Order: sequence, then C-alpha cells, then structure tokens
Amino acid sequence: MAKLQQHEMEELRAQLESEKVDLEEELSSHGRVLNDAGDWEGSSAGFEGQEPDPNDVADQIEEFVTNVPLVAELEERHLDVAEALEKMDEGVYGLCEECSEPIPFARLKADPAARTDLEHAEEREDL
Ligand SMILES: [Zn+2]
Repeated sequence: MAKLQQHEMEELRAQLESEKVDLEEELSSHGRVLNDAGDWEGSSAGFEGQEPDPNDVADQIEEFVTNVPLVAELEERHLDVAEALEKMDEGVYGLCEECSEPIPFARLKADPAARTDLEHAEEREDL
C-alpha cells in the first residue's frame, strides 16, 4: 500500500485533466448549460457553432432519442473526474472512500477517477 509517487500523481492528473476537457466538449456539443451550478440537460439543438460531419446525420437522429441518458452519464462522469481533481488539490487523492487505504496505481491508471480500492469496488460501483 505504497502512496502514489509524484510522477504517478502527475501522470494521473494529466489523464484526469484531458478527460475533463473531453467531457466538457462532449457535454457542450450534446447538451446545454442549464445554470451556473453546472447542470447539463440533453438537447437536440447542440450543434451550433460546429461543422456537423455529413456522415453523422443518422447518428444525430439516433442521438435525439438517446441524448438525455447520454448526457446524464457524461455529467456523472464529469462530476467524478472533477472531484478526483479536487481531491488532488486537497492532497487526499488516491485513497479508498470506504477504508482510506491507498488505491493501487494500476487501478487508478485504468480509472483515475476511481473512488475505492478493489476490495470495496463492488459495494460502490456498477461494474
Ligand atoms: Zn477500501
């Protein structure tokens, strides 16, 4: 249960930050901002200011149906990623939320927003 090394922490932070940017881009292209609290809601009019790929038309029709659950999923993931980054700033990143033991680097590498170690993963996550 070694604590994360500095270079491991930096690697995971870079991973989280780039995932956060991707999620925000995806959220803004699929939904819209509802309020300053950062809530998002699915919308069928999320393609302004963006060149739509002609091959995506079928996808967009599909998206009209699936947008709301998709955005809810993105929003949830975005929250997890943002919270992981907050924990880094607070110096409590990489600790299991159930038992406070350090989460193994390999698990964080696979999911830098993981909230628990493997032992407690089943109780907290839908895998
Ligand atoms: Zn644990």
